[in-house]
Amino acid sequence: MSCGGLHKLKSKGCFVKIELIEVNNILTPASGFIARCGFDFTLNTALGCAFGCSYCYATAFTQKMSSGEEWGKWTKLKSNAGALIRRSPSLVGKEIYMASVTDPYQPSEREHRVSRGVLEALLECHTGFTLVVQTRGPLITRDIDLLVKLQVKNTVRVNFTVSNDSEKIRQLFEPTCPSLGQRLDAVQRLCDAGIQTNITVTPMLPLKDPVNFAALIFESGVREVVVQVFHDDQNGRENIRGTRSEASEKLAGLGLSRRDLVKQSYVFADALRANGIKVGMNEAGFKAP
Ligand code: SF4
Repeated sequence: MSCGGLHKLKSKGCFVKIELIEVNNILTPASGFIARCGFDFTLNTALGCAFGCSYCYATAFTQKMSSGEEWGKWTKLKSNAGALIRRSPSLVGKEIYMASVTDPYQPSEREHRVSRGVLEALLECHTGFTLVVQTRGPLITRDIDLLVKLQVKNTVRVNFTVSNDSEKIRQLFEPTCPSLGQRLDAVQRLCDAGIQTNITVTPMLPLKDPVNFAALIFESGVREVVVQVFHDDQNGRENIRGTRSEASEKLAGLGLSRRDLVKQSYVFADALRANGIKVGMNEAGFKAP
């Protein structure tokens, strides 16, 4: 891994340290729950994530790569990601999950176009693969042109995270993420373009009105939703415990427990099904298409 440019980007009032790096590999053999869901590779376009969610498990895997900045304040963009995809062996029949420990459409993508470069390389050099793009960044709509072309000879799905229905709650748990309205607009544009788009309510934050939220999702055009509440098991991993305790404290501050969220997730799932929306609960919902 080698380092390139370094600068700072202001996003939602916060400065994020952006570094361009070159890596040796861009497709990592899948492991853990990604492998259990049937994927062959994870494709992470960056280390670190400017969205900086309070519950993010990715800190356990990549925070050690920072230069001391706190989670959400640094991103190392893999500037040669597209070039590596061009040189990759055949991807026929392979299932790719982009991305597992970062968001491919965080604010720096607007200028640096690393994810766009990956899509261009996949389009030009490969065929017969499955690609799932996991994001909460409305910037993905910039790349609708490529996603539409990619799905002609491949299977493409966007998993768009919309974790709750309340701006107040979003600002508490994920203050530097796009608003609910921005995300639902993006989902609608993806659906209107004919791109298979699921909403992942993962992790599901406390909902204001599960029935109304289900109706909003239906209006966006989405017909498949994944629902998953916070994990209750830290598996003894210190970094994960640290991250989740921040979110757990916020939850406790609202007078709620994980058990309350589980109960609410069943009400929400029923409301989604009443709208004719297919619901995948927990890990099973992430299965490769
Ligand atoms: S967007 Fe995803 S990877 Fe980024 S901080 Fe939030 S949960 Fe973590």
